[in-house]
Amino acid sequence: MKDLLSMTLPDLITYMEGIGEKKFRAGQVYDWLHRRCASSYDQMTNIPKTLKEKMAADLTFAYPTVRTMQESRLDGTRKYLFRLSDGNYIESVLMKYHHGNTVCISSQCGCRMGCKFCASTLLGLTRNLTAGEMLSQVYAIQKDTGERVSNVVVMGTGEPLDNYDNLVTFLRMISDPDGLHISERNLTVSTCGLIPGIELLRDENLSINLALSLHAPNDKLRKTIMPIARAYSLKELIPALKDYYAVNKRRLTFEYSLIRGVNDTDECAQELADLIRGMNALVNLIPVNPVRETGMKEPSRTDVLIFQKKLEKYGINVTIRREMGRDIDGACGQLRKRYSDSETENDNL
Ligand code: SAH
Repeated sequence: MKDLLSMTLPDLITYMEGIGEKKFRAGQVYDWLHRRCASSYDQMTNIPKTLKEKMAADLTFAYPTVRTMQESRLDGTRKYLFRLSDGNYIESVLMKYHHGNTVCISSQCGCRMGCKFCASTLLGLTRNLTAGEMLSQVYAIQKDTGERVSNVVVMGTGEPLDNYDNLVTFLRMISDPDGLHISERNLTVSTCGLIPGIELLRDENLSINLALSLHAPNDKLRKTIMPIARAYSLKELIPALKDYYAVNKRRLTFEYSLIRGVNDTDECAQELADLIRGMNALVNLIPVNPVRETGMKEPSRTDVLIFQKKLEKYGINVTIRREMGRDIDGACGQLRKRYSDSETENDNL
């Protein structure tokens, strides 16, 4: 059965014509789903009951439900835990900035990339999310807050380029003028560096932002914390990013999670500057979020500032990620992991 929320407008038109319905019904249903964020057939008041029954029989339409939500008292950041139709859990985060509301979505249920500092990968990959499941994270949050979402970052659980086709369908649908119409320039995909995916994305004619999770300035160190570095070296990755920039002209972001005693030395700062010098890029420093299972610690505030100053001295654009929702924190993936663990324990009772 096809998944209704993942169907593009042309898909819906084909479906309607196939069951002998008028084409305009596709537009009406699409509008309910992707502009008005309807989460059930009941809400589609201008669609005949018989058609809704036919669709319910032919298509799956399972909206994720909010299992829990934590809201920061400091800055209004909200962390949502959604339960999917098959019982799996995913996390999404809403961050309120001056320039608008940003939602950070998950692209997979779990992750198989195995980065040593990350909680999302501890349980491995369960499955890919559909385009509809990615969209519905944004829709559900927009509905919950009643405020427009203006930016989406694919930086939650999962490796987006490991779920390439669904990711691209999602990006096209979220920026579709017939849907929420979030500007492509306000969409960001974060990857640990799957070069074939970067190359495909380069040629999609999408003006989206790319963020590369670098975390180490050389392969030797990178291999110790990111298994993907064994498959793709920086010697191949940096040119792939330069090619991406040459086509799409959006400033690149390098994410660099600072881990005490691992990648926060003066030599690392210098090597990092040498690696990316001359690129139109921003380094985003993130003091690593400690996860019990990983044993990795963040540097002191002073050491983070020293690392930043060092990069600036070498002429690199650098920011320190503003830490949102400190009071509800717990690294990405920890909420999901806690619930997945406890549900499993409950199942065993
Ligand atoms: N798989 C993608 C996107 C998801 S992770 C990627 O690798 O980019 C989003 C970002 O958070 C990545 O830069 C990731 O390396 C980083 N990250 C994961 N766990 C972290 C932690 N405990 N502390 C700080 N950053 C972390």
